[in-house]
Amino acid sequence: MAYLTQPDYVKYICSCGQLKPITSLYFCRHCLKIRCGFCICHEVDSHYCANCLENMPSSEARLKKNRCSSCFDCPSCFHTLSTRATLAQPRQAAQDAAAGGDTKVENKQPKKMYYLSCFNCRWTSRDVGIPDQPVASGGWPERTNPFTTRMNQLLDYYKAIAQQEKQEKLERERKKFAIRGKYITLTDKTGLTGAMARNIAGLPSSDGGSSSAIANFVASQASEDVDELPEDIYTKEVNLKQITSMAQRLASPEWQPATVSRLHPLAKLLSVKRSQRCRACDHNLTKPEYNPGSIKFKIELLAYYHVPEVKVISFETIKPGEKSALLIKLTNPTGHEMQVRLLQPEDLPQPEEREEPKSIEKSLEKSLNLEKEPLPETVPDKPSGVRVPASSRVCPPSMTLSLPQRDDAAEYDDDAHHDTDDVILWRKSNKIALRLEVVTESTVASGVPANALLALEYSYRNTVPPPPTAGGTLAGTTPAPRDHTLYTTVLLDLGVVSG
Ligand SMILES: [Zn+2]
Ligand SMILES: [Zn+2]
Ligand SMILES: [Zn+2]
Ligand SMILES: [Zn+2]
Repeated sequence: MAYLTQPDYVKYICSCGQLKPITSLYFCRHCLKIRCGFCICHEVDSHYCANCLENMPSSEARLKKNRCSSCFDCPSCFHTLSTRATLAQPRQAAQDAAAGGDTKVENKQPKKMYYLSCFNCRWTSRDVGIPDQPVASGGWPERTNPFTTRMNQLLDYYKAIAQQEKQEKLERERKKFAIRGKYITLTDKTGLTGAMARNIAGLPSSDGGSSSAIANFVASQASEDVDELPEDIYTKEVNLKQITSMAQRLASPEWQPATVSRLHPLAKLLSVKRSQRCRACDHNLTKPEYNPGSIKFKIELLAYYHVPEVKVISFETIKPGEKSALLIKLTNPTGHEMQVRLLQPEDLPQPEEREEPKSIEKSLEKSLNLEKEPLPETVPDKPSGVRVPASSRVCPPSMTLSLPQRDDAAEYDDDAHHDTDDVILWRKSNKIALRLEVVTESTVASGVPANALLALEYSYRNTVPPPPTAGGTLAGTTPAPRDHTLYTTVLLDLGVVSG
């Protein structure tokens, strides 16, 4: 949900310190904190094919190497291939009829045959000599991996190593608790299997599985001898229409076709539905519906629905030592009236405690998120106190703004209520436009990025019932207050300082 018309001029400081636009943030209603993709857990809920929407459990997906068995991508342009039908004249029957009249009349009927075709680049399975198939789905010839044996050897070897390491770990843990004897007590008391006991005792294992896989494994050897290049490598004219691009080769790593005549349909990769969890409290932040055809969520705690949205309408060029005007718009996305106060970032109350002290590295292991925005050098790991480098300061008005609840019907209203106020430019339903002043120090060099921090204090009504206090550790016996005062800080991108 990114704005197509506006890049991310406004970035929120997540509770972990990352700067993100509101559209990529979540809001935990249990911790009452903003969370980003970096400070939440990602879990795979289900695997499905985005083309045929077939759903499958993860064990089956693993077995199928995370690929759909009935959908294919174009090996040339990676667009999804379509199945096309064609009427084939049965050649044999036609010949028979010409030879002198046969009784097999039904054979003369043209037969429907199918091939794969790309609507984007016009590649077809016929281009590479794949015979047409009598059935529309499935049955496409699979190309066998020339390195299957070696791959299986490697897989067995790694599995054996993993198993051995697991056993060694178990053994180490058991040794800690073993009081007397060696393995007799272990087998008796801890349910250690016979194979493990044999392993500990240094006896050959009866199954012959893991240890023999390790013993028989032949490691690959690096060699300096490589095949000579063909004689005509520098003289032969290159026909770019016949050789594949790097992307086309790497799309099928097993074969890496060098010529286009060796391209083969690519089985479509499966997609996943994932749910996301707050790392601090383990509650779900998003949970999609299981049905792959549905784009709805059972739980969808996006910051966009809970945190006041700040948008830059316009601003005057930022000049060193000068004041410039800044017009922003605030929106209350919630179903409750919201009181908003603009503050300087240093005026924010200090957070009671730091919940995850410097947990970024540690939490990386937990997170499957691969995309990580590099942190600006002095970004705080908590939203207040420490400062993000900002070239300018916003002068916040000392007033509390009241934003009515969201009203979807009011979206169609054109009339904005124009205020004569110095600060409030106009009001419209749950939105308010403000005229603010930005002050820039004369020491700021021209040419550097212009930006300013703005802190928000806002009221938030939590509609989630307080958690059950059976454990007695959470909220105690008093019901948690449903109205909260929350804080957030945004970094406004105001172009470049010009002197
Ligand atoms: Zn975060
Ligand atoms: Zn499919
Ligand atoms: Zn194509
Ligand atoms: Zn939470």
